[in-house]
Amino acid sequence: MATAVADEVRTTLRAPGYGHPAWREIPEEAAPCRVCLDAIQPGREALIGFTYDPFQLTGDPSLPGPVFVHERHCEPYTGSGTYPARLGRSGLLLNCYREGRQLVRARRIDHADAEDALGELLALPEVDYIHVRSATAGCYLCTALPG
Ligand SMILES: [Zn+2]
Repeated sequence: MATAVADEVRTTLRAPGYGHPAWREIPEEAAPCRVCLDAIQPGREALIGFTYDPFQLTGDPSLPGPVFVHERHCEPYTGSGTYPARLGRSGLLLNCYREGRQLVRARRIDHADAEDALGELLALPEVDYIHVRSATAGCYLCTALPG
C-alpha cells in the first residue's frame, strides 16, 4: 500500500474512498502492516484499521476489505525478494490478475512456499500482478509484481 494512502488515514481516521471511520487499537496478536510489511507488535504498538480497496488506484471494480497499518509513520517495504518472509505464517491465497482485473488463476499455498509460488506464477505470460491474501482471514496483504 502506498505510504500516502496510509498517511492520509492516519491523519483523517477515515477509510480512503469510502469515508467509513477507521479505528485505532493495540492488537493482542501480531498483525501485518500493509505499508512496511512488518508485524505490528502486539501489546506494544498501535494499529489503524480501515476498509481498503486494493483496486482503487487502477479504477477497476472494487474488492474492499479490512486492513491494518502502523499508527506511526513507517517506511514502505523495499525488500529484494518477491515476498517478505516476515509477513505472517498462515496460509496464503494468491489471486493472479491480468491487466483489467481479470482473475486468471488462484492458488492456496503454505506460507513457506510463497517465494517459489510467486516466482512461478509471475513468470506466466497471462499474469500481470498477484494479490496476496490471508487464506484464513481472507484479507488483502500486498501486491506482488514481476521483476
Ligand atoms: Zn508499518
